[in-house]
Amino acid sequence: MSFSKNLLGWYDVNKRELPWRETKDPYVIWISEIILQQTRVDQGLPYFYKFINAFPSIVDLANAKNEDVLKVWQGLGYYSRARNLHFTAKHIIEKYNGVFPSNYKEILSLKGVGIYTASAISSFAFNLPYPVVDGNVVRVLSRVFGVEIPFESSAGKKQFYSLANKLIDKRKHSKYNQAIMDFGATCCTPKLPKCDNCPFILSCNAYITNNINNLPVKKKKIKQTTRYLHYFIINDKDRFVLSKINNGIWNGMYQFPFIEFEKKINQCELFETLNWKSFFLGYKYEVLSSSDEYNHKLSHQRINSVFWFVNIDNFSNNKFKYFSKHEIRKLPIPRLIDKFMNDYKLI
Ligand code: SF4
Repeated sequence: MSFSKNLLGWYDVNKRELPWRETKDPYVIWISEIILQQTRVDQGLPYFYKFINAFPSIVDLANAKNEDVLKVWQGLGYYSRARNLHFTAKHIIEKYNGVFPSNYKEILSLKGVGIYTASAISSFAFNLPYPVVDGNVVRVLSRVFGVEIPFESSAGKKQFYSLANKLIDKRKHSKYNQAIMDFGATCCTPKLPKCDNCPFILSCNAYITNNINNLPVKKKKIKQTTRYLHYFIINDKDRFVLSKINNGIWNGMYQFPFIEFEKKINQCELFETLNWKSFFLGYKYEVLSSSDEYNHKLSHQRINSVFWFVNIDNFSNNKFKYFSKHEIRKLPIPRLIDKFMNDYKLI
């Protein structure tokens, strides 16, 4: 039996019911695919409902305020995805009169849409024959066919796409793509794959050669850096000082003023640093207390942070602004800050 026939037979019995599979609406499919980048289905599902409820159409998304889009996204991470969705919705209104483009090249040209997402939208919404190749698919193909090259390399990409193009069912591409993604997510899982219930057990290269745990081959990981941040909690009764972030992964969100170091330093050293002294230069201030350490993991960095409660006279600086608790609840805030504020019942 061919790979695709075998896979589609498995899918008929094991298909996952997911809301974006009930529609051909490219807007809904696009939102679901962007949410599912770097996010598991069970984590992404509540955000999908929240996002579609807040912005039911491309026009609603295009007309929304950037901060409102980030607020709905808050907690999901990789915020460039939300910024790109908003940008692209406005672009589709301007360039395509609000109609989602229906050919692969135009879909691929949209900001935030890579080869995987363009293939998924093309196949699920417009029934075009483009195979999806994501982490799940790479794992399945590398194991079943014994492909021992990292997908992240350019030769690896070429090899996996060439294989995927050969294997895709020429008549049922949309179903085939859904099937291989579900198979990778639920049967041929990264750890403890369910080989005993797998339709490929008799032909799977990795199973036969006892090589399952070595496939897919991964490119060496990028070394993570750690940032050491000291945040200042400055308030005037129920109003807190925050500033808008204008770059990096949290661009467009809000956080407390902070100073940053490349290494961990103790309290005595901290009070003597130039960073600390320059922040408070010209102010009469008193340090009231500090929080425990908060550690936050991002894709390429770790953030080690401490929050300092500070009494400061007449603090004013054009980079910062006072916000009421009511206003803060509506602002997009990085998860690290949100967690701290909830722990300390600041909002
Ligand atoms: S036999 Fe095991 S490793 Fe091979 S495809 Fe099936 S689940 Fe994956």
